[in-house]
Amino acid sequence: MLTRIDLRGGTPDPRRLLPRAQLDVSVAVERIRPLVEAVREHGYSAIREASVRFDGVSPECLRVPVEAIRAAEGTLDPQVRAALLESISRARKVHADQRRADHTTQVVPGGTVTERWVPVDRVGLYVPGGLAMYPSTVVMNVVPAQAAGVRSLVVVSPPQQDNGGLPDPRVLAACALLGVDEVYAVGGAQAVAMLAYGAAVDPAGAERCAPVDLVTGPGNIWVTAAKRLLRGVVGIDAEAGPTEIAILADDTADPAHVAADLISQAEHDPLAASVLVTPSLTLADAVDAELARQVPAAKHAERISTALRGEQSGVVLVDDLEAGLRVVDAYAAEHLEIQTEHARDWAMRVRNAGAIFVGAWSPVSLGDYCAGSNHVLPTGGCARHSSGLSVQSFLRGIHLVEYTRDALREVAPHVVTLAGVEDLPAHGQAVSVRFPGETS
Ligand code: NAD
Repeated sequence: MLTRIDLRGGTPDPRRLLPRAQLDVSVAVERIRPLVEAVREHGYSAIREASVRFDGVSPECLRVPVEAIRAAEGTLDPQVRAALLESISRARKVHADQRRADHTTQVVPGGTVTERWVPVDRVGLYVPGGLAMYPSTVVMNVVPAQAAGVRSLVVVSPPQQDNGGLPDPRVLAACALLGVDEVYAVGGAQAVAMLAYGAAVDPAGAERCAPVDLVTGPGNIWVTAAKRLLRGVVGIDAEAGPTEIAILADDTADPAHVAADLISQAEHDPLAASVLVTPSLTLADAVDAELARQVPAAKHAERISTALRGEQSGVVLVDDLEAGLRVVDAYAAEHLEIQTEHARDWAMRVRNAGAIFVGAWSPVSLGDYCAGSNHVLPTGGCARHSSGLSVQSFLRGIHLVEYTRDALREVAPHVVTLAGVEDLPAHGQAVSVRFPGETS
């Protein structure tokens, strides 16, 4: 079922041979550019037009009434409520440990630099809702933002035809459980544009969504493209687009587990990527057989088959686990599972991955919901330079520079010298003016 890419015999640059989707984010950016421009210029009417076109709803007001958020909590199935509360409690535990204290470094006597960690003022949290509904993503966005101390927090999620144009009721219920009361029924690129520029949210312009400072959260390729396009107008977390799983496995892995894990991520999106990297032909054959057995029985068999047959998915055959390690590092998967002997040792050597799931009993699905870790993770190779969402994503480090007269005087000649080297004498003058007759 999965395309095979045979890298046995070695290759100096595996990155360009690995499976990746052809419809890349840069192509999608050009497609959504006119929509983003329209939202900037026309606000509400452009958002509404996009909602009609992409979501099949024509909402009168984009802001979800607070009563509707509370009501959604009231209708929550008790089992779902218990599971969400467990997810929240585990995520809070992990994210509370991520908080950093301010730190002062004494550089010289009388000269200090303090790093103050200050939360972003207002953030927009994207919760997807196209092919699947993601109350879990409310948890993964809101918990770190709250732990960081963000003051103003807004959630956006696509309007649903079967919920009267409001976002999914479980998404709203998760907002209620976390105390979020500013929610807009807007999805896709138009939601990111609304957050970045701000916009009226009703025809009369009586209510507005104020612009945010930072947009976080996962989404499909259109959401990811909008984040890339608007970066700078607004801050963004890493690009967290269509999901990816890579599994580094050897003969010790259970093919039924490997297949189930590949399927679990393919279920998200026809563009999702499922990649197995293995030196074992026996395992590759057994996983193929398992996929042939498990996929037809899956609820979303069609979407899964499209994702698994897509150019972004495949089995990569390698000479040994050392070569496999080079391949997974080159791929830089959003989710990486290590299902090998001595899995933790291999995991500790990985350089590029959004999150690593170690051994047979830590599947990605655990991390999607209830491990305590964050599931908003970088995709498309962005794990080479970015991390998943964390408390740190919502904080800025501001340096406080405090020098006494004596400490400045001591270093003044060096400042003047360096200013001269850069041909910026006014910089040097700003120091020497404080010590007339002392520095030249
Ligand atoms: P979504 O909310 O991301 O996208 C739905 C929106 O896309 C719609 O509201 C619509 O406005 C817009 N849209 C649909 N077709 C469009 C088109 N042709 N042009 C422009 N806009 C269009 O929900 P989804 O589609 O279910 O996707 C969720 C994605 O999030 C999946 O790809 C999933 O893999 C990913 N995900 C990623 C992570 C991560 O951390 N990387 C975590 C969870 C989910």
